[in-house]
Amino acid sequence: LEKVPSDIEIARAQTPKPITELAQEIGLLPDEIESYGKYKAKIELSVLNRLAHRKDGKYIVISGITPTPLGEGKSTTTIGLAQALGACLGRSAFACVRQPSQGPTFGIKGGAAGGGYSQVIPMDEFNLHLTGDIHAVTAANNLLAAALDARMFHEATQSDKALYSRLVPSNKGKRAFAPLMLKRLQKLGIDKTKPNDLTPEEINRFARLDADPETITWNRVLDTNDRFLRRVTLGRNPTEQGHEREAGFDIAVASECMAVLALTTDLVDMRERLGKMVVATSKRGEPITADDLGVGGALAVLMKDTVKPNLMQTLEGTPVFVHAGPFANIAHGNSSILADRVALKLAGTEPGESSDHVGYVLTEGGFGADMGMEKFCDIKCRVSGLKPDAVVIVATTRALKMHGGGPEVTPGKPLADTYTKENLVILKEGCKNLQRHIQNSRKFGLKVIVGINKFASDTPAELELVRQEALAAGADAAVVSNHWAEGGVGARALAEAIVVACEGESDFKFLYDLDLSIEEKINTICKEIYHAAGIELSELARKQVDTYTRQGYGNLPICMAKTQYSFSHDPSLKNVPSGFTVPIRAVRLSAGAGFLYPILGDMQTMPGLGTRPGFWEVGLDPETGHVVGLF
Ligand code: ADP
Repeated sequence: LEKVPSDIEIARAQTPKPITELAQEIGLLPDEIESYGKYKAKIELSVLNRLAHRKDGKYIVISGITPTPLGEGKSTTTIGLAQALGACLGRSAFACVRQPSQGPTFGIKGGAAGGGYSQVIPMDEFNLHLTGDIHAVTAANNLLAAALDARMFHEATQSDKALYSRLVPSNKGKRAFAPLMLKRLQKLGIDKTKPNDLTPEEINRFARLDADPETITWNRVLDTNDRFLRRVTLGRNPTEQGHEREAGFDIAVASECMAVLALTTDLVDMRERLGKMVVATSKRGEPITADDLGVGGALAVLMKDTVKPNLMQTLEGTPVFVHAGPFANIAHGNSSILADRVALKLAGTEPGESSDHVGYVLTEGGFGADMGMEKFCDIKCRVSGLKPDAVVIVATTRALKMHGGGPEVTPGKPLADTYTKENLVILKEGCKNLQRHIQNSRKFGLKVIVGINKFASDTPAELELVRQEALAAGADAAVVSNHWAEGGVGARALAEAIVVACEGESDFKFLYDLDLSIEEKINTICKEIYHAAGIELSELARKQVDTYTRQGYGNLPICMAKTQYSFSHDPSLKNVPSGFTVPIRAVRLSAGAGFLYPILGDMQTMPGLGTRPGFWEVGLDPETGHVVGLF
């Protein structure tokens, strides 16, 4: 057996084609792309208008079984399939993936460019700053956080009159409301446009947002796994006059600003959503939004370029859109609606054109099908109105053996013999996990194709067992794929199975109705997808549910924050746990992104670094200046 070189060696050995050339190949016009260096470009959304008449291409979501901490190859399969459909089958094919977070890249998991001979290149640019979208998201999030704390400080230290005269200053005897102030007056039902006409009571209501510190849900964010920022005390400098408060940091890619980027449908919609984001509840019980703080427009300015999907390419020169963030455990963790839409139009057919020419869009939903895929269907497709044709569930013998009773899989440690030698007994037991994911996916009316991601130590009998178990559970197809070792050619059979599965129309449906109460919606996901007996809301969660229902947010879909390592809230419950009660610790509101965000069990919204993070390997080659050690 020939050894497959490291990911970065493979990536470096291939020279990407200039991005302008790729853009032309896929049918973009020169003024629809904005190059960022030689190999990356942002795509103008005007392409959506130009191609509005086209029938969309086929839409396939790539998901997986409950993974080990090493990852089971969803990104690798997404890229391998795009290579197979594009370079081998000669179809138009697009991969839509998320931009990796620096947290895992320097932590335990490495980057997310795929792996082996199925990668996005240049992989170092992909894994690091890309075109700056995450930095813009971080800047926007933290500007809003700063705006809230500064406002609370000024409200606490000034009289109504002083506050008002600073918010609405007089310029040569004339005062005027800023446009967002007029919006706030309207919201308060104060029918006045001249600053001098407000009564003292109206001035009080207008100038004081009166945020209840207990209700603040807006955290600061950073794209680093920094566990010591999970809980911090703000405002300790004497200049803040003792106005301290406990707060926390989340990982930037799982922030609401990132979710807005992912779920928005155009720049105007993005501006609206950013303005609607709720940071706290006032002591009067009203939601306080970014627009109440006057910062919605500025957030949109910071994020305006992020709305454009980023174009890159696979090792075999097929197009990849990289857009939005990962973390389908604590966020929705899907690539963006806009990237998918652009890809679906580029892969689509002209009126009258034969459906034989249709192209394929492979979009990735993070972690297992209980996480990214459920959120893809119930949140993302609800907003976009797009109907997926099929789901690919990526499975590995490694993860299935772990579910069947194999020892723990720990990053950085060699795998136990169970994983490198044939063991059909525990593999068969672990196939129950795959079977449950297949049956769950059926509830969404999707065609289900199982992609068995082949590892070098897998035996033919093991691979055949997984295939048979998948078919027995009702998968439309189950195919072994060797794209990691062989590139697109290795995924040819899987690609062909997708083409066949997508021939008919899908019977796509949502799992729950938005009209159900918040609690009923959470319950439905827990029972139908996780196989729980029920849920238990903490006192805090119940209070939050009541508040959000009263404030009119009860009809939003649900974005669960749950461990990715189990169907349940407890990462130690492997394979197919059932009958457990899910503790709902808290419920946050993402009013701009448009979902409610229950936090299950001990789930953390800021990951930490282990003793031996991946960054030990990363550095610059002193001779070439190239990045080394990324994987
Ligand atoms: P996921 O997207 O499911 O988290 P990735 O595609 O990122 O998983 O793969 C996780 C890691 O496993 C990557 O480092 C990748 O190179 C490696 N990998 C994936 N498939 C294989 C395979 N078939 N053989 C060896 N390594 C693989």
